[in-house]
Amino acid sequence: TENIWAAAFDIVRSLREAGYEAVIVGGAVRDRIMGLTADDVDVATSALPEQVKNVFTKTADVGIAHGTVLVIHPLAPVEVTTFRTEGTYSDHRRPDSVKYVTSLKEDLRRRDFTMNAIALREDGSLYDPFGGREDIRSGIIRAVGDPDGRFGEDALRMIRAVRFAAKTGFRIESATMGAIGRHAESIRKVSVERIKMELDKVWKSGRAGLAMELFHQTGLAARLPLMDSSRSASDLPVWRKFGEPDESVEGWALLSLLAGSPEGNPYKLSNAEKRTVRQIREAFDIRISRPYDEMDLYRLPAHALKTGWKFAWLTGKTGLPEPEEIDRRKAQLPVRSMRELDVTGNELIAWTGEKGGPWVKKWLGKIEEAVVMGRIPNQSDDIKGWFINGFNSER
Ligand code: ATP
Ligand code: MG
Repeated sequence: TENIWAAAFDIVRSLREAGYEAVIVGGAVRDRIMGLTADDVDVATSALPEQVKNVFTKTADVGIAHGTVLVIHPLAPVEVTTFRTEGTYSDHRRPDSVKYVTSLKEDLRRRDFTMNAIALREDGSLYDPFGGREDIRSGIIRAVGDPDGRFGEDALRMIRAVRFAAKTGFRIESATMGAIGRHAESIRKVSVERIKMELDKVWKSGRAGLAMELFHQTGLAARLPLMDSSRSASDLPVWRKFGEPDESVEGWALLSLLAGSPEGNPYKLSNAEKRTVRQIREAFDIRISRPYDEMDLYRLPAHALKTGWKFAWLTGKTGLPEPEEIDRRKAQLPVRSMRELDVTGNELIAWTGEKGGPWVKKWLGKIEEAVVMGRIPNQSDDIKGWFINGFNSER
């Protein structure tokens, strides 16, 4: 984060030396005022994208259509965006047009909340025409300008308001809150990809319970997939206990669990996320009926086992999870995969004198389970004795 700030300040300096206006903007400024670390620092400038590219030796066109050039600074890459306003979002996905403007104030005016509409100059001073610093001091999330107009332009901002409330613990100012209530229905028009990106951050915020309560109060929950309002109300205590997960996928797993794990994937999770959600569900189902056995520990990833147990606890079905127990017992397993078994399919064929066939795979599976469960040592001789015995008694 040190490097990112140094790179951003250096880029601001270079742009200013080239005769342009340039400042640091957005979430990084907010986080800095709040004493939090930022993982990306954005620069805004009066220079047009082509002019930005001429100032720096290494750049990449990442979002040139909306005025953004990535400057590859030796310390860190930084996004540099030309001062701009946005047209409306008639498809609720992307602005119909972006218009470059010369005034920083115009650029800040298009931003969603006062806390996100503060600029930081090269000398460390702030340009804060909408009172963002005061709102941060008072712990308030407030739309820039007329909230009804702003949510009418882009309904995603309603979810962002809740997301920032979850991140900061601030309250949403009453006129802003009222406007969310009035515009809640239009969240249906917003693409699920954009919603997912915001919800990923809600799950990671450490205040998912607060967010759920706000989704509920504003009427957003009733319009969002898997968040049906009556259910959310009864599940609120679970979300409050959810805390700060290691990975956002835990939030998707809990949402789907509480919604009764429906088929389908309304939030377009990635394949990796879908798999993890399935594994957590499987671990949960096991853990609510009994402690994990060695075969569970062998088959399922540690993260899924820990999370499944955590969910069993969240829903009052077990005591506190003990993640160290999972790690310890996993480390003690005699094998970690089929490859570590002291036997091969060819050996089974040789020992029996039978022709290969589906039986080989079946028996490797049985041996695997017997070894994992500690019924036989992972030693060729022991495996052979156990196998021959079982194989013969089956015919
Ligand atoms: P985080 O630190 O969680 O990334 P952020 O404030 O940086 O929060 P981003 O989504 O990265 O949030 O957006 C960067 C900035 O762009 C915001 O601070 C805000 O000024 C502006 N912005 C982003 N999305 C919108 C939007 N939908 N409407 C208006 N302004 C927006
Ligand atoms: Mg950001």
